[in-house]
Amino acid sequence: MTAEWTLLATFWALYLLDNAQPSRSRQIQWLSHLGRSTRARLKTLPWRLTGLFPSTWRLRTAELPFSFSPEGLCNYPVGQTLRPADPRPALQAYRWADIQSLELRDGWIVFNQQKFCPDTGHLTYDQWRTLINALTGAPLATREKILRTQLATLVRPANLRRRTRLLLARTDALTTFATTTTLLAFLGTVYHLAGLSAYVPKPFAAHLADRLPVLVLLVVVFHFTAYTLALFARKKLFRHAPRPKGLGTKLASALLLPPQALKLRSLLGDAYLPPTLPLTAALACSPPAERAVLVRQTLTDLDHPLALSAPPAHPAHAITAWHRENLRSTLTPLLPRYSLDAAQLLAPPTRDTPQSCAYCPRCHDQFSHPAPTHCPHGIALKKLPD
Ligand SMILES: [Zn+2]
Repeated sequence: MTAEWTLLATFWALYLLDNAQPSRSRQIQWLSHLGRSTRARLKTLPWRLTGLFPSTWRLRTAELPFSFSPEGLCNYPVGQTLRPADPRPALQAYRWADIQSLELRDGWIVFNQQKFCPDTGHLTYDQWRTLINALTGAPLATREKILRTQLATLVRPANLRRRTRLLLARTDALTTFATTTTLLAFLGTVYHLAGLSAYVPKPFAAHLADRLPVLVLLVVVFHFTAYTLALFARKKLFRHAPRPKGLGTKLASALLLPPQALKLRSLLGDAYLPPTLPLTAALACSPPAERAVLVRQTLTDLDHPLALSAPPAHPAHAITAWHRENLRSTLTPLLPRYSLDAAQLLAPPTRDTPQSCAYCPRCHDQFSHPAPTHCPHGIALKKLPD
């Protein structure tokens, strides 16, 4: 094995290892490989995919793992966009005033020393602290207002689209340099490993061998240019916001480990576009057909939620009902802007066979005669119109 072979194999192994890392939970991401517009597609993967090309950008999303109301909050999610819905945890509920301590520890939100729900990054520690302090002791009307604003902040597709557009504009030049570096490195690898020098005219092969130091120098210059442009992009993107922790270290590591520099846009994007709701990502970035399916699934989860296994007096019933109602009233006015109509999305499906007579209003599965009264998820079936 030659030294060049080892070097090239290490370069590409690092590049691939760095791009796909195993994860304990499913990763819900919106990915755009060509990265020219704000259009991206949902990819649900068992690993974290940073992006295979220097032009790739991604949105990391997670369902909100809790619901809230002016009374308190519970770890039962409401308005889930994806199917199958996230597994339901052992139910816990707190009144706002009962939260004595808050920690974000090992990927969990911990209230009063008890794990409450996964920490999906929708709210930072400071945002949690501010929210709890503002709600504790405030009159009911103030609590309602604060939480409605909180919901509207979580579902802001126009804002997400604006930020995505800005990220793409600020990282356009560095992506061009990183893409050229990747292409040169890839072509060089293929030329060397496939022994193409034996198949091209001898003078051309000799000429290329002579110019090899210049080509290597060119790649090095492109690498440093992309890195310098990434520093400028960071300065512009975070001009009015605190620089995120750890981004400087990641950029420095990209400088020292060239394979990492091929995903500079992704590194900046992860810091600039914090985790969001799948619903917000679907509205902001999905193509129309995918957007319609995902919004319909959110609406059917609001209208036909899975049964809550708790006694009728449990506060989780009132908390989820408030959250559901207010998420619906946050979402409904947004739909026309994205050419969506709730009534059309929730209309009964067209019969898939002449025998179909009933459908589930949640999953839109169809049933033939004799149809059961409920679907396997426990939702009462509706008759298909004639
Ligand atoms: Zn169903």
